[in-house]
Amino acid sequence: MTEFVPRIVAFCCNYCAYAAADLAGVSRMQYPPQIRIIRVPCSGKVDMTYLLRAFESGADGVIVAGCLEGGCHFVEGNFHEKARVNFARDMLAAVGIDPARLEMFNFSSSMAPRFIEIVNEVTERITKLGPAFPKKVKFTDREGLTKREFLYKMLANLAIKTPDKTLIVPEKLKEFGRIEYEAAKCIGCKKCQDKCEEQAIDFQRTFDLSKIVQKKEISKDEKITKRRLLYMTIANLTVKQPTNNILVPEGLDEFAQMQFVPEKCVACEKCIEACPEKAIFLVKEIDFPRIIEHVKRSRKQ
Ligand code: SF4
Ligand code: SF4
Repeated sequence: MTEFVPRIVAFCCNYCAYAAADLAGVSRMQYPPQIRIIRVPCSGKVDMTYLLRAFESGADGVIVAGCLEGGCHFVEGNFHEKARVNFARDMLAAVGIDPARLEMFNFSSSMAPRFIEIVNEVTERITKLGPAFPKKVKFTDREGLTKREFLYKMLANLAIKTPDKTLIVPEKLKEFGRIEYEAAKCIGCKKCQDKCEEQAIDFQRTFDLSKIVQKKEISKDEKITKRRLLYMTIANLTVKQPTNNILVPEGLDEFAQMQFVPEKCVACEKCIEACPEKAIFLVKEIDFPRIIEHVKRSRKQ
């Protein structure tokens, strides 16, 4: 049997980690040749799609190496990347890939011996874990996809198991989240949809009256808008709870119901800013099982 030699990709920031790797090279320090170093302007530039593409390209382990905390040339790039790598590890774990295959490290440009130490340590760990995938993974075709759709499609492609829980997004990581909206506040103006560059908001003509007709205590600070008053009045007059959805007639856009498309959303919050009724808010979690299931289904079509 041939001995397993892991392939490891190291994304190194230009100013510190790459300089440390370079110093190790010119100082003739030895490190495993299977490490492929990719130089990036800042560790914060390493998007999640880069990390997943590295796995799709045959990497068994991936390292992101940035400047020491507080030493980033772009101030917060390495902090942001840390949150991103941590969340990527959660995603990998959820689809059955050992999160120990991905890690972030911090170096100064003079830390060549530490760079060698880390590279050896990671190589040893990945060797013990064995190949990341039982067979070669196919490349995900990016054509016609937004960056976010591409990311989820790659995750669905790499998945060894189906995710079974929602993922909590770290507060520091701005680019992920889930949009919720209060149907009882919405006036169907569609300003949210106009502002959404990702086309993550849609409207449908069914109207779930049960969500709206609820006798709810109104807090003193809550604004009683015309729409609010309408629903409060209907709730007050209600003799029996509605069970069926109502079809909104053509031309009556003001009652269309907002639909959020989670696999497209990049949590930019533009819809929140645009909503005059303050009906939208961001929740720092993603419904990962639903997203992956949806992406897998759309792949089959
Ligand atoms: S947060 Fe941004 S991407 Fe997500 S639905 Fe709102 S506008 Fe669209
Ligand atoms: S911007 Fe607000 S009020 Fe207007 S359709 Fe969107 S959610 Fe409803």
